[in-house]
This record gives sequence, C-alpha cells and structure tokens, in this order.
Amino acid sequence: MSHGIPKILEQNSFDLTPYEDLYKYFHAHPELSLQEKSTSEKVAAHLAQLNAYEIHTHIGGYGLAGVLRNGPGATILLRADMDALPVQELTGLPYASSVTMRDADGIEKPVMHACGHDMHMTCLLAAAETLAKTQHAWSGTLIVLFQPNEERGGGAQAMVDDGLYSKIPVPDYVFGQHVMRMRAGSIGSRPGTIMAAADSMKITVFGRGGHGSLPHQTVDPAVLAAHIVLRLQGIVSREVDPSDLAVVTVGSLQVGQAENIIADRAEIGLDFRTVKLETRQKILSAIQRIVEAECQASGSPKPPIFTPTRRFPPTDNDHNVADALAVSFGQHFEEQFDGDTPRTNVSEDFSNLGRCRDLPCCFWLFGGIDPELWDRVHGDENSSEEIPSNHSARFAPAIQPTMKVGVDALCLAALTFLRK
Ligand SMILES: [Zn+2]
Ligand SMILES: [Zn+2]
Repeated sequence: MSHGIPKILEQNSFDLTPYEDLYKYFHAHPELSLQEKSTSEKVAAHLAQLNAYEIHTHIGGYGLAGVLRNGPGATILLRADMDALPVQELTGLPYASSVTMRDADGIEKPVMHACGHDMHMTCLLAAAETLAKTQHAWSGTLIVLFQPNEERGGGAQAMVDDGLYSKIPVPDYVFGQHVMRMRAGSIGSRPGTIMAAADSMKITVFGRGGHGSLPHQTVDPAVLAAHIVLRLQGIVSREVDPSDLAVVTVGSLQVGQAENIIADRAEIGLDFRTVKLETRQKILSAIQRIVEAECQASGSPKPPIFTPTRRFPPTDNDHNVADALAVSFGQHFEEQFDGDTPRTNVSEDFSNLGRCRDLPCCFWLFGGIDPELWDRVHGDENSSEEIPSNHSARFAPAIQPTMKVGVDALCLAALTFLRK
C-alpha cells in the first residue's frame, strides 16, 4: 500500500523554480532570533495564497501555524525554523545577505542564514502546496508550523507556553528536518536519539583586584579561572563512562582589561552536550563541585554565580514512527536514504513541540553539499576547510537537489500517516 506514496509524489511533483526564488529571497533577508517579523509575514502571505490553510500567527513571538483540515484521520505536524545567525556572510553568492540588525544587547550585527533555516522554510512551504494539491489522495489534518528562535533554544517552548495546542489541533505525530553538511541528495534518520542535548551557562568567579605588582594583596581570578578550565577537562575523560557520549567546552573566558591590573572577577562561558539525562545531571554537579572547590582553593571572597543561558533537550526519535518513515523513505530515496545515520552532537529544540504532551516525534537530516564538491574532497585531510558546515560564514547549500529532497521528505512523512 505504501508503494502508492512515491507515486502520489511523482504524479503531483511540480516545478520548484518559484520556490528556488523564494529560497533566495529568504536567504537575502535573514532575521535574528526573536526578530523574525518580516520572515513570518512573508511565510503567512505565501500560505494564505494557497487558499487551503487556516492561519494562526504570533504564537510565542513570531511563530505561526497553518492548519489544513481534510477529513477524518490522523493529525500530523511538520515543523520548520525561521531564525538566522549573527554571522557575516562570505559565500560570495549573488543572493548573499548584506543585512545587519541590532541584537538583544542593541549591538549592530551582520546577519546570515548560516544554518539553512531558509531552506527549511522553503521546503515546508513547497510541501504545504504539494499536500494542498493532493488532498484527494489523503485524509486527516495537516499542520505546517514555522518556529521562531531555534538558535537560542527558546522558540518551540515559547510557542507551547503561548497555548499552541489550544489554538491548533494536538498532533498525533511531530516531524522536523535539518539540512546538514552531508552530500546533497542524501537523507538520514535513526530510531532513538539523533541529536544530543545541549546546555550552556555563564559562570562568574570572584577574586580581589589590585596592582599587578602586588599579587600577595589580591586573589587573582585569572589564575583561579585557569585552574577551573583545566580541571573541567577531567569531567569527560575521568568521570563519564567512556561508552557514553559527552562534550564539555569552555567557549569564552573573560578576565580583566589591562596588563598590569589584577581583576576582581572572571567570566567563564561553558557549553556541554549529552545524550542521557543521568549523564547531564552528573556533568552539571561535577561542574558545580569543581568550580566551588577551585574558588575555595584560591581563597575566593564570594561564592561563584552560575547562570544557565540555553537548554536544548535531546532529540529522540520514536522507534515505531522512525521505522514507518524508514520504509517510506527507503522506497522513495532508495540508497540515498540511511536509516542508521550517525547521531550528531548538534542540538535542536524541536522536540519541545512533542515533549509537552508526550507526542511521538521524528527528525531527520538531509544533505546540502554540492555532490560534485562532496565527491571530490570528502575524506581528504582538508575537507573540513573546503566543505563549510552549519554556522560557517561560507555555508551555502546547493539549492538542488537539496530542496527537492527536503520537500519530498516532508510530504512522505505526512502521507505515511495520512494516505487513504
Ligand atoms: Zn544552527
Ligand atoms: Zn539550525
């Protein structure tokens, strides 16, 4: 029976050229997290013009959802994210962004769709059109959801907290996708955890400032912070089970302003990734224990302050849903589909859309790297320089076949559970 799905797609595939133009538009007009105003207006206008969707805007900020009610059956939610990053684009593309915006601190920043969310929105709009045109072939309710603020990890939860599921039907299944540094045309998923959990925090530790020539009258926060940074490296290597996955990274370290002054505090910016909740808890307490002990060892005059800045849950694919999708994807994409794609340490807040109601979720990754470039340099020692990854200033997905795969995958996921 599921052999019918690729056929529905084949018979209803249409020219994606207008969507390639739409993609270039989104790419040239990126907006930072929590400021996706004109992006969401553009999405809403495009959805409205399909004349099939009931549209709900301003959910949890600039979030929006379109609902297509098409008879009895399951309710499926397909999700795309909309925000861009404070990155100065260096792709040299004719449709490159030259946009700048003020960030949350009022500082003017260059803005770029360096994570491919422009591709996600375009694919979801094209899928929305495909599924609206094929209503005769399926039955049920389709939700297309456009989420703000993925990069800071807050958008999905903000939509839920703003009463998302009192405005739109509660879905039976929740789906999402991400374009990645993989060969364009390829697509992968896996049952169980596909993306790690991520936590970020700022840690402030205190010293006692003074003259650089009189260290004995001070408590030097630079030395204190240095000990902490080194000691933190022991968490993953000495405390986490080697068969488990964890990463602890100190990404920023700020102490003082001048060469000859001992500062009175240091700020450590830290990020860690885990797959298991127990491991997350273990790392959190290890960080706290180490920081507090090093402060005591240095004679710090005040207890340290821990400020969590971001929290992404792990992205766990429901086993039954992932198995059903693997059948559809395998039939359609054939050997381009990998049903056992490696888990990644990149993180997503996607699953917050399902976690709040215990809804089964499934997420997949699709390739965006020009196949010719990929085949030429993948596996070379320097391939990481030549093939930029997400968040790079040179991240530039090949529009096709990337887009076609993203559109087909969304339609396949919906039709797997909605087909007549
Ligand atoms: Zn990103
Ligand atoms: Zn992203």
